[in-house]
Amino acid sequence: MELFDAHTHIDMRHFKNDREKVISRAKAKGLVGMVTSSIGPGSFRRTLGIIDKHRDYIHHSAGCSVSQLTRKDADTIISLTRKYASNIVAVGEVGLDYHWIKDSAGRKAQEPLLLEFIALATELNLPLVVHSRKAEAEATTIIEREFEGAVVMHCFDGPPEVAEHIRDLGWYITLPANFRRSRNRIDAAIILPLEQILLETDGPYLSPTEKRNEPANLVIGCEVLSDLLDLDIEDVAAATTNNAKRFYNL
Ligand SMILES: [Zn+2]
Repeated sequence: MELFDAHTHIDMRHFKNDREKVISRAKAKGLVGMVTSSIGPGSFRRTLGIIDKHRDYIHHSAGCSVSQLTRKDADTIISLTRKYASNIVAVGEVGLDYHWIKDSAGRKAQEPLLLEFIALATELNLPLVVHSRKAEAEATTIIEREFEGAVVMHCFDGPPEVAEHIRDLGWYITLPANFRRSRNRIDAAIILPLEQILLETDGPYLSPTEKRNEPANLVIGCEVLSDLLDLDIEDVAAATTNNAKRFYNL
């Protein structure tokens, strides 16, 4: 079985003491690769060392922590992304966060930064990985208007009408390994054709178990999706792996 973790955070301190074992466990579970998402300048620099050590297995998507992004960090992330563009497979996660940011001024302030990252993706001809927590419709409206490249709505948790719109735009969604806990995610998994679905763990977050999440848990999400669609798990693994490789141009 060939699996691919389309979005994780392997550079994080949660993996500091056993990162190599985590990567070995992922390989043992059938993962043929993963995309790790850096979320700030420090995270970006840590990721450079990790992808250097795991060429052709771990790929770098350069983005930010949407709810904590500062003007200064955005500038640094953008210049680092330009500098290391040849080893970056996507811009993101970037987007809007209405879960942690609740005041309307704070929400509005995220938009110009998102527009800069969209422009960066266009400039570098890279796909866009979108974080849109509680802001799925708003993020979709902006990106649809401003961006022509490939889009994945990471950990999509929006309502069915937004899922239908994303399907019609030909964009992708990722489902996290614990997606059975969300009605919106189950609906989205049915609304979008399998060709537009990627699997991710978002490790160390969104664990399907009691423990820290890690890429090896991707198989749990694959099992849930194959049950839901009543398809063979091998076929779902192969399809979602192909989708991830196509999306990230691997
Ligand atoms: Zn993430």
